[in-house]
This record gives sequence, structure tokens and C-alpha cells, in this order.
Amino acid sequence: MSTVILSDARFGAHTWYGHPECADRLDAIMEAVTTSRLLSDLCSVAPYPAPDAALMAVHTPELLWRVRQLSSYGGGQIDGDTYVTIDSWDAAQYAAGAAMGAVDAVLSRGHHNAFALVRPPGHHATPGRAMGFCLINNIAVAARHAISHYGLERVAIVDFDVHHGNGTQDIFYDDPQVLFISTHAAPFYPGTGPMAQVGTAGPAAGKTLNIPLPFGVGDIGYAHVFEDLVAPALRRFKPELLLVSAGYDSHWKDPLGPMVLSTSGYARLTADLLALADELCDGRIALVLEGGYSLEVLGACTVAALRLLLGRDPGPDMLGGARSVEPDLSHLIATIRERHPLFGT
Ligand SMILES: [Zn+2]
Repeated sequence: MSTVILSDARFGAHTWYGHPECADRLDAIMEAVTTSRLLSDLCSVAPYPAPDAALMAVHTPELLWRVRQLSSYGGGQIDGDTYVTIDSWDAAQYAAGAAMGAVDAVLSRGHHNAFALVRPPGHHATPGRAMGFCLINNIAVAARHAISHYGLERVAIVDFDVHHGNGTQDIFYDDPQVLFISTHAAPFYPGTGPMAQVGTAGPAAGKTLNIPLPFGVGDIGYAHVFEDLVAPALRRFKPELLLVSAGYDSHWKDPLGPMVLSTSGYARLTADLLALADELCDGRIALVLEGGYSLEVLGACTVAALRLLLGRDPGPDMLGGARSVEPDLSHLIATIRERHPLFGT
């Protein structure tokens, strides 16, 4: 097995004092990866900056101009949550490029799988709006790259970040070539992602699968959701490439999220997705980092994911579980299976 990681020192320059989405996040990940002695087994690839054409394929010129302009003037707040520094345009270009590089690694460089360890995150960035700590939608740029550069016809994105990937949904809402599946806490930031939104009527109908979850879902609930909804949806869609918006803020130790996944619960989801990629698309899978605001969780979950990408067991779960009673999801799962077009005849 060969597994690629892509990261860049430029990501650390995009940081804002006191903000949860800060340089410490990737520092903690790289320290955990180094301590775990995985580095020598991984193939580290330096990302390239995403070309303007790749960014324009998912974003409006106005959004790109605004982020670039604000960055060149020294930075500021895009909204109450989202900052730009003098280094942010550079970081955002390379983060999107790293996600593209993860696709390249899997589709043309003969590697098995890849993990783009990037900041700033991307899944809240819509075609015309940077928001929710996100400037450029990295995974959307990567999915479009897979379609336009490599000629793929079907790409699936699974987003297990605790927040709904509203930007990714918006970008692909009328696109039948991209299946977007999101598990997210609801009602929660950014307030989007109801199950009734399934894609624009026509060929894209059924290509958005929102799975809004009540607070307190953990290993048991997520496993059921993956088994009963995510896996059958992917089997129905038959992707040629599986991309994962890997946000680790659904962990019970995350300071922002209301879910109770453990490190081993997250590892099981990753193992499920790897098995589905093996079954459906020759193992072609690439992960792109999204949220996650506990430094120890980020380190532990990334190491477990990389071990799985390398074909090993996920290793011990040093953080343990939350020991709470989970809500019953059987009605929610049955309702989605009954109403969502992907599960129809
Ligand atoms: Zn998040």
C-alpha cells in the first residue's frame, strides 16, 4: 500500500489569535503523526497552488477577488467567524491545490489513497460566500478537478464533519455527477442540510443526501447510519472516486460539537469508507481535512485514519468513549430510506 499525505508550512501562516481554527491544529496533527512513527511509511507530497481556473470552476470571481483583496491589504474579518490574514490567500490556494494533489495521487500517480492535511478548511464556502472558517471549498475544487481533468463521470463526497457542508451542497446541488452525503448535527451551525433537500429536480435529484442527526449521536448511531444509509447510497451511485470531508468535530471531546463519537468510532467510519472504495472504485479514496477543534482528538483521529489508509489496524483508542446513552435513530433512518430518491426503486 502507498499512502500520500499533502501538507504545507503556508497553512500555519493563516492563523488568528484566540480563534479555534488556528495553526495549532495542524501542528498537533503533524506532531502526532511524527510520534506515531508513521512518517517513514507515508509518501509526503508537496502541494501546488490551485490554478485560478480550478478555483473559478467552483467559485464566483467576486468571492475570489474579495478574499485575495482582503488578504493583500493585510486581512480582516469576512464575517463574525471567518478571518483572513495577509497570508490567507496563499494558504487557501495551496489548501485547494493539496486537495487536487490528493486526487492526482490516487488517479494518476499510482498511489492507493491520500490524505490532504489542509487549512483553512473548505466545506462551508459556497460559490459566492466565504463563511464558517472556510475561504475556498477545497474538496469541491478537488471533485471538479477529478471530473474535468481526469474525465470521471461520478464522484462521491462523504462529509462526516459535525457541521453541514452547506458550501459543498450548494456547489453540486444541480450536478448529477457528484453525490454529496453529509451527516451533521441539527439544528446546529450553519442551519442548513434538511433531509428534504435532495438535489435539483431532474438528473441531479437524489444526488444530495442529508442526514441531519439529533445531538448526542455516537459510535452506535453513526455505525447504523453508515450501514443503512451511506453504504447503500454509495452502492446505488457507483462512484469512480470517493472523497471524504474529514472533520473531527463529531468527537465527544470536541469543544464545539454536540456529538459523542470516539476515536475508534471515527476509525470504524473510515474503515467502512475504505471497504466501500475497495468494493466500488478500486480503492480510490482521498480524505481532505475539515474541522475538529480538540488538538488531541485531531492527532488521534488522523493517526488512526492514516494507519487504516496504510492497510493496518487503527491502533489503540487512548481517549476512550463518552459512556452516554445515544438517541434512537431507527425512525430517522427509516424515514430517509422511505423518502429519499436514491433508495427508491
Ligand atoms: Zn465542522
